[in-house]
Amino acid sequence: MVSSGFRAMLLKLGVPEDRLAVLEGKGGITEDEFEGIRYVRFRDSARNFRRGTVVFETGDVVLGFPHIKRIVQLRNGINRVFKSRPFYVEEKVDGYNVRAVKVKDRILALTRGGFVCPFTTERILDFINEEFFKDYPNLVLAGEMAGPESPYLVEGPPYVKEDIEFFLFDIQEKGTGRSLPVDERLTLAEEYGIPHVETFGIYDRSKIDELYELIERLSRERREGIVMKTPDMKRVAKYVTPYANINDIKIGSHIFFDLPHGYFMGRIKRLAFYLAEKHVKGEEFDEYAKALGKALLRPFVESIHEVANGGEVEEVFTVRVKNISTAHKMVTHFERLGVKIHIEDIEDLKNGYWRVTFKRVYPNATREIRELWNGLAF
Ligand code: ATP
Repeated sequence: MVSSGFRAMLLKLGVPEDRLAVLEGKGGITEDEFEGIRYVRFRDSARNFRRGTVVFETGDVVLGFPHIKRIVQLRNGINRVFKSRPFYVEEKVDGYNVRAVKVKDRILALTRGGFVCPFTTERILDFINEEFFKDYPNLVLAGEMAGPESPYLVEGPPYVKEDIEFFLFDIQEKGTGRSLPVDERLTLAEEYGIPHVETFGIYDRSKIDELYELIERLSRERREGIVMKTPDMKRVAKYVTPYANINDIKIGSHIFFDLPHGYFMGRIKRLAFYLAEKHVKGEEFDEYAKALGKALLRPFVESIHEVANGGEVEEVFTVRVKNISTAHKMVTHFERLGVKIHIEDIEDLKNGYWRVTFKRVYPNATREIRELWNGLAF
């Protein structure tokens, strides 16, 4: 349910009344509050409000971050999406999506799902120059937060050695969600010193061999992949390295039962298409096959041992916060996401930050393994 004030605002913004009623009925929109700022979060789409859209009490609208088309066969995918158009190639950084936005006099960090994230909001000005929002209050900075100390992911890219960092990859207008052209984004990032994902230059389909080489290099360097974008941002597509497909499977198989089967199938499929497109054979093929098998099985078998020995399937992660209260807010935030975490340890880093260790237990995976181990027959 949303309050009458928000209702009136959403109708004025063009959300059709019948769609609003449907969304309210099934919990597709939810009213929430962050440190005194009220907002509505769209869990489903409505008219031009994409999933993840946030409407603040101030009338500021931040559209959900759009889905990016995935290419699985690089050569044919590029032909199909871009035809003969040139496109920028950027690194796809492996982290979590954040939209930074100015509301009232605060800079808030929104998650993909449209929550104000207490952790990211507390840390965002460590990475972004606030001057940007003084000059452009109407723009939204979209980027990836990535590093080994992340609340949402167990691993970060290899070049973030500690803590977490922000990497800009899109600047959008409030209200419309329209992206700035790539060159304008790059100029603003440079002008305000905002860290940006690495850019590899402009390519087109005639440079496919260079792109294959780039993918191979990124894969060797344990990086996730690339995102290709026409200069006007009208066409965007992503492609993931074989390394990332196997590594995701390795991370996922630890919590095998907590993930949908599609998580694994999608990644196996992409790896198979890579091997087919590159005609990988012989020893190299065998290496991939072994790496995939190990990634799928080893952490899974380890989890079975853990539970068989009376333990639980769990993950431990650390983050750095400025206030301990932020760590407690994260526990509540995860509860709203339906996830149970608890604080294991708090360490004073004596530099204005606290390092907080959290533990997340996976009750479903634990229960399922326990039952099967105990001989459940079906
Ligand atoms: P979707 O299917 O909606 O794109 P997903 O979560 O399944 O979402 P991902 O494989 O995570 O898809 O890829 C999309 C995400 O990649 C973006 O939402 C963004 O957070 C992240 N990303 C990392 N680097 C970039 C980049 N350079 N440009 C755009 N997105 C990037």
